[in-house]
Amino acid sequence: MSAKIIDGKAFSAEVRARVGEQVARLKAAHGITPGLAVVLVGEDPASQVYVRNKGKQTVEAGMESFEHKLDADTSEAALLDLVARLNADPAVHGILVQLPLPGHMNADAVINAIDPAKDVDGFHISNVGLLATGQKAMVPCTPLGCLMMLRDQHGDLSGMNAVVVGRSNIVGKPMAQLLLRDSCTVTIAHSRTREIETVCRQADILVAAVGRPEMVTGDWIRPGATVIDVGINRVPAPEKGEGKHRLVGDVHFESASQVAGAITPVPGGVGPMTIACLLANTLTACCRANGLPEPEGLTA
Ligand code: NDP
Repeated sequence: MSAKIIDGKAFSAEVRARVGEQVARLKAAHGITPGLAVVLVGEDPASQVYVRNKGKQTVEAGMESFEHKLDADTSEAALLDLVARLNADPAVHGILVQLPLPGHMNADAVINAIDPAKDVDGFHISNVGLLATGQKAMVPCTPLGCLMMLRDQHGDLSGMNAVVVGRSNIVGKPMAQLLLRDSCTVTIAHSRTREIETVCRQADILVAAVGRPEMVTGDWIRPGATVIDVGINRVPAPEKGEGKHRLVGDVHFESASQVAGAITPVPGGVGPMTIACLLANTLTACCRANGLPEPEGLTA
């Protein structure tokens, strides 16, 4: 069997187009432009690339982008001061503080200082609690992107067996909450799980968010299952030249795609969905702030 490839690049372009259309309608009908503020502390090269891409795609969707770049030695108090100003600014509907933060800062304290209604990353403790109790929350972008792809693939997820490998606060746990909310039977596997291959083979939906290159191989997968590979790992690629790298997921694509019914590739799967969902969350936050209906097809 050869799996259907779930094209995250194409699907994320569709989601961004949907965001763009609804932003245009919001502007025309209400004169409101959603605004996203992104705060970058320090010069981490990967974070700089992410922030640049976020800014570019925010503007392309017709929204306002506010970038705040702070030196690596900025004090936590100064960062908290900026967060307070963004919380109070009516032109800012979404606030994202790019992680990781420099070691002298307490990331939890900074994230929990963001107004939960503007917390478009969905990491604030209030949003975590709202999601866990089935209330209206801001949902973390990567799991939201995975959920959108799964709903697009299957429609109703109710009753499906879902296994999430990984229990991080950023991906694994919120992914499991979202699948539970869509009435899947959910198992969370992690580094202490016994006979993890057997657990994974029960899955109709298998989400890998581990950070271990190509750990999940074809023999872990139930024939016909849908496999969502969240992992992004840089591995040496001597075939491309000395010192070169390539990106692989947490799933061994070659063997897994022989068994799965559908699978996301890396790159070009979950990755592009994350920024698309950040834009969707910013639009959602803006609609909620203005007492308008939720955007269509862009929320959990
Ligand atoms: P974390 O390192 O925070 O969490 C990894 C999880 O995997 C932990 O729960 C850990 O278990 C579990 N784990 C580690 N080793 C094993 C093992 N051998 N068997 C079973 N479980 C194991 O990672 P993140 O959740 O932040 O990220 C996961 C991956 O997703 C990474 O590759 C990351 O780059 C990628 N990512 C991609 C994004 C995207 O936009 N596509 C966004 C965010 C992340 P334990 O808790 O027991 O230690």
